[in-house]
Amino acid sequence: MTDRNYREDFPMLRNNDTAYIDNAATAQKPQVVIDAEREFYEKSNANPLRGFYPLSLEATEKYESARKVVRDFIHADSEKEIIFTRNTTESLNLVAYSYALNNLKAGDEIAVTIMEHHSNMLPWQMAARVTGATLRYLDCEKDGTLTDETINSGINEHTKLLAVGHVSNVLGCVNPVRKMADRAHSFGAVVVVDGAQSTPHMTIDVHELGADFFAFSGHKLMGPMGIGVLYGRQELLDAMPPFMSGGEMIDSVSRDGAVYAELPHKFEAGTVNAAGAAGLAAAIGYIKEVGFDYIEKRELELTTRAMEGLAKLPHVHVIGSDKPENHTGIVAFTIDNVHPHDVSEIMAADGIDVRAGHHCAQPLLVHLGVYNTTRASFMFYNTDEEVDAFVESVANVRRRMGYAE
Ligand code: PMP
Repeated sequence: MTDRNYREDFPMLRNNDTAYIDNAATAQKPQVVIDAEREFYEKSNANPLRGFYPLSLEATEKYESARKVVRDFIHADSEKEIIFTRNTTESLNLVAYSYALNNLKAGDEIAVTIMEHHSNMLPWQMAARVTGATLRYLDCEKDGTLTDETINSGINEHTKLLAVGHVSNVLGCVNPVRKMADRAHSFGAVVVVDGAQSTPHMTIDVHELGADFFAFSGHKLMGPMGIGVLYGRQELLDAMPPFMSGGEMIDSVSRDGAVYAELPHKFEAGTVNAAGAAGLAAAIGYIKEVGFDYIEKRELELTTRAMEGLAKLPHVHVIGSDKPENHTGIVAFTIDNVHPHDVSEIMAADGIDVRAGHHCAQPLLVHLGVYNTTRASFMFYNTDEEVDAFVESVANVRRRMGYAE
């Protein structure tokens, strides 16, 4: 499939004349995803899981078959282990509220890395506050490495829950999730993995990772916004109370209480996002068609080209590893004496869309002493020409701010 011009599959890439290099924030959507979501509303729209008439059954079938596609995609054992949510953030909050609040107590520890996105940090701050557990941060090195010493002291006999990002949304590094999970499991802790930044770029096997819970968002892997996934080991999900309650998640209700539905519906209160699920299934189908072999190879080429270009610029500093293979397409950088907000505005004038700020990872940026960065994030559909335009634009930022070089 390497000769195909994938850009033709994306209406936004055809309709937009800027270089979109903010894919870690959200990816563009191929036509098949847009069609799947539209077709649900055009041809199958009824409230799923409720009616017994054919249209409602069809809507249910579309929704439930998307769950099978997701199960396959992350190599889970059963559809019961796949909960549809709105996004990664909701998935992680579900675990914090339903699992952590009911299983942690004072004296216990929650281990998180300092590089977590706020969505994989604030829910644990909340859980620690409410239960009296201690939140312990594992600090990384400048290149994102978590040393054995850090892992061994951070994950210990007090650890009851480890929450770790598979791929950092600032550094782009892939964390040693399996090694950390093995250690956490040896102390009987559960392991929560934030897969928001890994699912678009690499094959996921929740068993190989050692994940008890795994969260991700549809929109980052070219699916629609508003649909996300929480994988949870069935035994754990079975024992957890619902996160939210109301319609669609019960077997029966009386004046005094309710019998909850079986998994996965126990965790899907209210009318579900069936069109979003259909779109997500289409996105997964598309990503499989492109193939992770090609995606990884192409994204490494783009990242290498970008980092080699930036390395020639004296006032530009890439955050994290100096090896492109440790970046998963993410290149965050600073430019001496220019605030990233100015950098991104200047670059926007050149038609380059990049992100500026703290990237919802403020504790990491404080730890690294940079506070704010500009971030480019590549996807396989970006072109060499876009990378070159990006580097050229970065090269001109300081002069445009009035510096001699
Ligand atoms: N975790 C990481 C590592 C992320 O990059 C993001 C998105 N920026 C999130 C969690 C949150 O994802 P969402 O906003 O889709 O819930």
